[in-house]
Amino acid sequence: MRYDVIIIGAGPGGIFAAYELTRIKPDLKIAVFEAGHKLADRKCPIDGDKIKSCIRCKTCSIMSGFGGAGAFSDGKYNITNDFGGTLYEHIGQEKAIEQMEYVDKINLEYGGEGTKLYTTAGSDLKKLCMQNKLKLLNASVRHLGTDINYIVLGNLYDELKEKVDFFFNTPVEKLEKTDTGFKVTTVDESYECDKCIASVGRSGSKWMEQACSDLNIETSSNRVDLGVRVELSADLFSHLTDELYESKIVYRTEKFEDRVRTFCMNPHGSVVTENTNGIVTVNGHSYEDPAKQTDNTNFALLVAKHFSEPFKDSNGYGESIARLSNMLGGGVIVQRFGDLIRGRRSTRKRLNENFVVPTLQAEPGDLSLVLPKRILDGIIEMIYALDKIAPGTANDDTLLYGVEVKFYNMEVDVDDNLESCHKGLYIIGDGSGVTHSLSHASASGVHVARHIAG
Ligand SMILES: Cc1cc2nc3c(=O)[nH]c(=O)nc-3n(C[C@H](O)[C@H](O)[C@H](O)COP(=O)(O)OP(=O)(O)OC[C@H]3O[C@@H](n4cnc5c(N)ncnc54)[C@H](O)[C@@H]3O)c2cc1C
Repeated sequence: MRYDVIIIGAGPGGIFAAYELTRIKPDLKIAVFEAGHKLADRKCPIDGDKIKSCIRCKTCSIMSGFGGAGAFSDGKYNITNDFGGTLYEHIGQEKAIEQMEYVDKINLEYGGEGTKLYTTAGSDLKKLCMQNKLKLLNASVRHLGTDINYIVLGNLYDELKEKVDFFFNTPVEKLEKTDTGFKVTTVDESYECDKCIASVGRSGSKWMEQACSDLNIETSSNRVDLGVRVELSADLFSHLTDELYESKIVYRTEKFEDRVRTFCMNPHGSVVTENTNGIVTVNGHSYEDPAKQTDNTNFALLVAKHFSEPFKDSNGYGESIARLSNMLGGGVIVQRFGDLIRGRRSTRKRLNENFVVPTLQAEPGDLSLVLPKRILDGIIEMIYALDKIAPGTANDDTLLYGVEVKFYNMEVDVDDNLESCHKGLYIIGDGSGVTHSLSHASASGVHVARHIAG
């Protein structure tokens, strides 16, 4: 079977590449191969009742399937070059923003109409942060929410399935260069194409590494972000979240001058687990529907760890830390901030008496046995800094879940068109290392589709 274009991965990068290709060149024969399920079949077995924690499914429905890692996410589309990836380094600041705004427009057309766009422009909170040694990063944030995000994806799928051949539960095993293009091999068949777009995201990072090695494409890798997810009463952060929804705040620690930052803020949200290649870490999301909201807000506090030669396996380092927490807690560990600073583990009893009621069933434990001291010191310093702009952040009852790891895919050597050294092979989205977010990944799909369509 031969296609004009084969897309590997149906996350935001793959979906927007397919969308834009079918829009500009409806005659193209396009196939999308996806390791996970159709959107409607994506179900995480954790029901909070019979199955309380991750059972490590073969294909994680949270990370894989139509919609990719973003399908059950909070659907926060950050329109900014300040964070979320370095797409602008390839296509320029203006074009990157223009394409993120285009993605936003499509999301609104496909079900996101009426959702709110928040912005830091003109906010007094910038000054408040600056007065307290914190920096608020610039961004506009479209918050679709988990429920509307799901509807948008469903509508996009309904439209695309008429124009594109989707192969679900069909991981691509091998990608090869041929005389006339590329060959992708799955467990039962091989397919050929003129052009190939690999958009395999974080869950496909190991596959991508192997494909780059097989095809002699250069890669580099030197960063991992480690930290905790903080959960506290939503009232404490309401002045920030009501105005900005998500505030990306950076703090430089006094002790080591390390940068600690807030990441993925979920007002009235829930803390969730995430399974990447069998390693359980923590994440968070929230719903637009008030009926599904909680009394808590959660966000991550992360410290970026850059490594220098000869060490190359930054993700391996992050995985080892996560494994340590999995070993001690059987999964994610939760600790009260008061217990952490008193140097004692949290217990079920203390947790039951806590003012902040956890939204995730995690094992009470001691994060100081898991996170390196320097990282934990930075997180504690930042909690005290945040306490100045949101008093109560450093309360004993604030919950810290660990570990949160932000794995960065290795950076694949691609040019400004996100094309590899093999003409016709494009590597986009989080799998390329160029993007780390919904909006950047989606925009990278649009960019490549426009390049292919000429
Ligand atoms: C719980 C959670 C919440 C998040 N919340 C936000 C948020 O609010 N805002 C934000 O900007 N970002 C968020 N993110 C990050 C965001 O989801 C990603 O940045 C984004 O999905 C990247 O898109 P992508 O298309 O590059 O990759 P992915 O979304 O990871 O999609 C890649 C797809 O490729 C498939 N695949 C992998 N290997 C193969 C293979 N060999 N063959 C076939 N298919 C393969 C995978 O199954 C997957 O479906 C969140 C992530 C998680 C996990």
